[in-house]
Amino acid sequence: MTSPGKHRLEKIPVKGLQQESMVLVGEKLGRLPDYLPRKKTFVLTDKNIQRLYGAAWEGLPVFVLEPGEQSKTLETAGLAYRWLMDNGADRSSFITGIGGGMVCDLAGFVASTFLRGLDFGFVATSLLAQVDASVGGKNGVNLDGYKNIIGTFNQPRFVICDTRLLKTLPDQEIKNGMAEVVKHALIDDKSMFERLEQDPLAVFGKDQALLHYLISRSVHIKSGIVGRDEREAGERRKLNLGHTWGHAIEKTTKIPHGFAVSAGLAFSGKLSVHKGLMNPGDYERLLRLLTKLGLPVSPPVSPEEVFDALMRDKKREGDTIHFVLNRGIGKVVVESLPVEEIRAFALNGR
Ligand code: ADP
Ligand code: ZN
Repeated sequence: MTSPGKHRLEKIPVKGLQQESMVLVGEKLGRLPDYLPRKKTFVLTDKNIQRLYGAAWEGLPVFVLEPGEQSKTLETAGLAYRWLMDNGADRSSFITGIGGGMVCDLAGFVASTFLRGLDFGFVATSLLAQVDASVGGKNGVNLDGYKNIIGTFNQPRFVICDTRLLKTLPDQEIKNGMAEVVKHALIDDKSMFERLEQDPLAVFGKDQALLHYLISRSVHIKSGIVGRDEREAGERRKLNLGHTWGHAIEKTTKIPHGFAVSAGLAFSGKLSVHKGLMNPGDYERLLRLLTKLGLPVSPPVSPEEVFDALMRDKKREGDTIHFVLNRGIGKVVVESLPVEEIRAFALNGR
C-alpha cells in the first residue's frame, strides 16, 4: 500500500474511435496547467467547486453553474454557448470541465457541439465522476425528466482524478460513487469485491490508498470495456448492470443515482439467483456490502411503480429488454429478457 501523501500517478488510456483519452489517477489539481494546450481555455464548473478550489484556475474565464442535476439541460447549455461567444471563444479554444458528473456531462456536451466541436478536458472532483461519469466519452443533458437523452460520444483529451479533492466531498456523494465502484467489482473483479468487504467504511475516512486503488481498478475495468465497444453495440452493455431497474427507480422516486443503482444491483442479484446464475451466498454478500455502505437494497416504492417506469424506458426494444445478470461475483452476462419475465419476477418473485 502507498502511504498517504506519497502518490503514485497512474496514466490509463481510453481508446475511442476518433480520439484517445488519458485518465490520470492520482494527479494533482495543481498540475492542471501542464495539461492545458497552448490555446485559449474556458472553464466550466459549479458554485461549490468554484468556492472550494477556484484559486487553482484563477485568471481563466469561468462559467459557474448552479450545483445539481437540474442544471443539466439544453437551457443551461444555451447560456454556456452564449457566454463562450461573448468571451471570444473560437474553433481553436479549449474547454475544461471541473466538477462532478453533472459538470463533466454538460461541459463535454457543450464542447462537443459548440462550433461543431472544441477540444476539452476534465478535472473530476466527485467519486462518481472519477470512477464513472468522466470516463468513457459519453456526455449529454436531460430532457423532460429523461436522463442523458441528448448527447454525443466524444472523448476528453485528459481526465485528472485527484483523490485529495474527495476530502471535501460529503458522505452522501461518497455513497453515490460507491454504488458504481461495487458495480465495477461485480462486473470484472472478484478480488476488488473482497477488498471492499474487508473495511468498506474506510472510504468515508477518505483513506487515500484505498480510494486510489478503487478508482484505478474502476477506470481500468471501464476503459477496457469502452475500448472494445465505445458505441454500446455489445459489451459496453455490461456497464448497465443495476441500471435498467435502477433508472426506473430513479425516475419514480427521484432518489440519487447511486442509491437507485444500488437497489438495482440488489434486484439483478436476486434475479440472477432466481435464474441459477448466482449462488444465494454471493447474493447475501452483495446485500451485506451495500448495506454496510449505507446504500439501499430495495426501492422506497412498490415494484409495480418501478415496472411501469421501466415500460416507459426509451432503451426498451419491443417486448424484450437487455438485462445484465451476475454470474457469481466478478462476472456478468447480458441477456435479452422478455419484459413479461421481469414483471412476473418483480411482482411475484417467480
Ligand atoms: P455526481 O458527481 O454525483 O454525478 P454532481 O456533479 O451534481 O453529481 O456533484 C454532486 C455534488 O457534489 C454537487 O453539489 C457538487 O458541487 C459537489 N461536489 C463535487 N465534487 C466535490 C468536492 N470535491 N468537494 C465538495 N463537493 C463536491
Ligand atoms: Zn451510473
